[in-house]
Amino acid sequence: MDKIVVTSRRFFMKFPKLEYFENRAKEIGATIVPVRAEDEKTLMNELNDASVVVVIGRQIDRRIIESMKKGKMILAMQVGYDCVDIEAATQHGMVVSNVPVYCTDEVANHAIALLLAVSRKIKLLIKETSQAKWDYNVAKPIYNFKNRVLGIIGLGRIGRALVPKAKGFGMNVQAYDPYLHDDIFNFLEVKRVYDLDDILKTSDYLSIHAPLTHETFRMIDENAVGMMKKDSVLINTARSRIVDYNAILKAINEGRLAGAGIDVMDVEPPDKDDPILNNDRIIVTPHIAWYSEESLKNLMEYSMDEIERVLKGRRPRWILNPEVL
Ligand code: NAD
Repeated sequence: MDKIVVTSRRFFMKFPKLEYFENRAKEIGATIVPVRAEDEKTLMNELNDASVVVVIGRQIDRRIIESMKKGKMILAMQVGYDCVDIEAATQHGMVVSNVPVYCTDEVANHAIALLLAVSRKIKLLIKETSQAKWDYNVAKPIYNFKNRVLGIIGLGRIGRALVPKAKGFGMNVQAYDPYLHDDIFNFLEVKRVYDLDDILKTSDYLSIHAPLTHETFRMIDENAVGMMKKDSVLINTARSRIVDYNAILKAINEGRLAGAGIDVMDVEPPDKDDPILNNDRIIVTPHIAWYSEESLKNLMEYSMDEIERVLKGRRPRWILNPEVL
């Protein structure tokens, strides 16, 4: 019987009840074993005879992979898969898959929600009205969205889903993504920007939708923030380590950036004294961009479908290391 270990704080936060997973596992002659402990030793003990490990955000490094003597698969139950050492998994002949399509529209919607709320100074205004203060002057300046420029970094699934939504507000959309052919930009009618510096200098809103890689790590650092327009707004629903939030906070406090909308933090949950949480011009949400009732259901179904494909020897749909097949 194949043993499927499910683990990580974020997994149990999303799925406090395991009934769906247990029923699906039973149908394919497998069993679900939850590992709630956060320490490596307990996890490695359980993984010793496991076929599959399922995680959300928990680091699966070489040592953990090597402990899976009967390991067939690692499933990063999320879009980003930077938590898995894919090279080590490949060397051990294990399939690594993610679940890339369950929440594309949700994340694009959340990016728009943050962009609108930060630009319309909603956090500041809620603070004012909660004290019965009634003066719109505190929120000045607010600009119309029409003809303002949205710059998208990473024109993949989510970046593309953002395009028609932004155009609906009359924004002009441009994007920076060095890995795509021109025809995608032409098809979407998005202006292609070939240089990161150019998109920083010319965007009124900058929304990040690239994965966390060696190349994107702290891509938006102090130097990059220094190139952004004084009235611009940064939105990050991708990965926190792409951005240096200290540089963002400093720029906002010094009036060199209008505001930021943030869904992802280096440490989640963050320290309650983190100054980024208490700034009127920064809206922080708790890594929720992915969520809707529909996406939650998709995530469960797509994940168990992928595990079933691997355990039944079929080709996995979202394999990240096809060379192991
Ligand atoms: P995707 O793989 O479809 O698109 C990513 C795009 O980024 C690709 O087109 C790629 O070419 C581009 N890219 C790669 N390196 C780049 C670079 N150096 N500069 C510019 N572009 C670069 O991924 P997606 O489905 O659109 O998801 C994007 C990211 O969103 C994920 O990696 C994940 O980290 C994040 N995400 C967050 C949440 C959330 O709840 N906050 C949910 C889902 C996804």
